[in-house]
Amino acid sequence: MNIQKAEKKQTKISIIGGGIAGITTAFHLGKKGYKVNLIDPLINSEINNLSPKNGTQASLGVLMGNIYKRSKGRAFLLRNKSMKLWKEWLTQINYSKSDCILNKPLIKLANSEKEYEAMIELSNNKQKYGIELLNKDSLEFWNSTFETKLIGGLISHEDGRLNPIKLIKSLMQSLDQIKINKIGINVSRISKSNNLNDKSWNITLENNQSINQDYIVICSALNTQKLLKPLGYEILLEPILGQVIELELKKSILNWKEWPAILNYQSINFIHLNSNHLLIGATIERGSQSSLTEKQEMLNLKNTAPKWMINASICNEWSGIRARPISEPSPLLKELEPGLLINTGHYRNGVLLAPACAEWIGLKIEESQ
Ligand SMILES: Cc1cc2nc3c(=O)[nH]c(=O)nc-3n(C[C@H](O)[C@H](O)[C@H](O)COP(=O)(O)OP(=O)(O)OC[C@H]3O[C@@H](n4cnc5c(N)ncnc54)[C@H](O)[C@@H]3O)c2cc1C
Repeated sequence: MNIQKAEKKQTKISIIGGGIAGITTAFHLGKKGYKVNLIDPLINSEINNLSPKNGTQASLGVLMGNIYKRSKGRAFLLRNKSMKLWKEWLTQINYSKSDCILNKPLIKLANSEKEYEAMIELSNNKQKYGIELLNKDSLEFWNSTFETKLIGGLISHEDGRLNPIKLIKSLMQSLDQIKINKIGINVSRISKSNNLNDKSWNITLENNQSINQDYIVICSALNTQKLLKPLGYEILLEPILGQVIELELKKSILNWKEWPAILNYQSINFIHLNSNHLLIGATIERGSQSSLTEKQEMLNLKNTAPKWMINASICNEWSGIRARPISEPSPLLKELEPGLLINTGHYRNGVLLAPACAEWIGLKIEESQ
């Protein structure tokens, strides 16, 4: 073992929160050789999207990494980096080959002339990212599917979907392989260590057990503000709810061969599951209570739903909460003070951005050693 690796083995890091932000941070730091605890009361519970227990389990797992208008800046760089890292990471976590793959491509249909004009610009600027324009003539299939007359659309060959449940399960398996210590208890308090001989930070668990660490990485979404307030930090996050519906179609009337992994139409994602099941989602609702009106609007596509949608029945539905920073751009990646970092507030793109955010945390820790 080289000295660097030996030093890392001595560096103790606790990650608070085991959603996608925490799991991927643990995965990244564990691969680098650090001694990592991943702490979350949910860590040993069933992973399920029908009754999701955190934002990640509720997520659709859509990766819109390339279909993005900017070509510079922090948000662009995080997306770009994440798309590259997901490709690499999937080869490391995919145990049964077919389990966790990025299903591609993504098609977005334009709702208005203005949106189509933006698509033309995007396709001109982002050809090298696999973005291609779909003109009027190539939209016959979608016109008949949605009983409409579309102006145009885009295909993003490299964007798509990671099934979040399969992804969490594969990552969890990887965490065991790289010997991440999973602790299934709520963190009630974090504090600075007073004892000079101790490591820098103390974590108090709900069962009053105390853990002494060199670094703490907080990935606890909305709960982040509660954990940091006693230390004098005001991290403001608000809940934004999202509803997802699984539709059962009356009969298999759609030609699924033409469907991409993700279809985005009227700002709603359509995910084809099997011959007569389709996921649609997700709404964007301020607060933590789901609204029937928002759900109805999604179901009837703001009164433009085709017959097959109107006649479909709901066979499953769920909702989840996204944590959105109130006065800062998403996500919150910060080193608050030596040894105390946050990786949270991912709002709508936590799955997409997870690898780049985990890598940022790794770099910050390395720089500070
Ligand atoms: C309906 C819906 C659809 C979405 N679709 C997409 C999508 O298509 N693509 C995409 O990229 N993103 C999507 N998102 C967003 C994405 O799910 C989130 O950005 C992401 O899950 C945030 O991950 P996280 O780890 O920060 O938070 P979470 O997954 O919410 O995890 C936070 C964890 O912290 C733990 N925790 C909290 N307090 C404590 C404590 N005191 N001690 C220990 N643990 C604690 C919780 O138990 C929880 O497990 C969607 C979200 C929703 C709700």
